[in-house]
Amino acid sequence: MNKEKIVEQFKTNLANVKQRIEAAAQRSGRAADEVKLVAVSKYVGVEMTQLLVQAGALVLGENRPQALDEKFQKIPNPDLQWHLIGHLQRNKVKKVVAQARLIHSVDSTRLIDAIAKAAEDQSLVANILLEVNVSGEAAKHGFAENDVAKALDHARSYAAMNVCGLMCMGGLASNRADVRSEFERLRELRNRIDCENLPQLSMGMSGDFEIAIEQGATLVRVGSTLFEGVS
Ligand SMILES: *Cc1c(COP(=O)(O)O)cnc(C)c1O
Repeated sequence: MNKEKIVEQFKTNLANVKQRIEAAAQRSGRAADEVKLVAVSKYVGVEMTQLLVQAGALVLGENRPQALDEKFQKIPNPDLQWHLIGHLQRNKVKKVVAQARLIHSVDSTRLIDAIAKAAEDQSLVANILLEVNVSGEAAKHGFAENDVAKALDHARSYAAMNVCGLMCMGGLASNRADVRSEFERLRELRNRIDCENLPQLSMGMSGDFEIAIEQGATLVRVGSTLFEGVS
């Protein structure tokens, strides 16, 4: 496929996803502009990511700090927002804090400490989400539901940290009803611990973003669907 064809295909795919976002929002009595698409570019390299940007994706999600760094350097576009959506190790926080508009995957108190310190050192405020392990699967990252309120208080003790909301991954083995109830649990948890000041709910991927929107998602992280028909 030549570059023009690829950009055209990305435009089509982005339009389809946006239409599905709108329909899901409408079904649940929400405004479509309450839901932001995070285009997950982790599957492709710099060049393909550039074409995705050319097609109109301006909020991009990466799951690895190294890839985020590479693309941040090589695609210097001031209109772009980079989001880190994957697991972050404490020794990698410095650059991530400088490069990511939002870190979705904050999953431990020690990571909160490291991010806050890195942000303080660079005179920045880090925007973060607390990742919650709503499915309770042992293999998953994230705070247990019962630990989230405490983690929130801790994060808020830092002036250099702004907690914007909560994030979860749908359970891998879950069926659709289970996924729906996991998303619902994240929303209810948010409503219980602080309904007012945690506006963002990052939940939903290619296979379940419409369910997530019906359950209140404000950020959907969509990857593979955007790359359909692109080779
Ligand atoms: C890869 C990834 C996604 C996107 O998943 P798709 O099923 O490809 O849409 C979303 N969130 C996280 C944390 C991911 O790692």
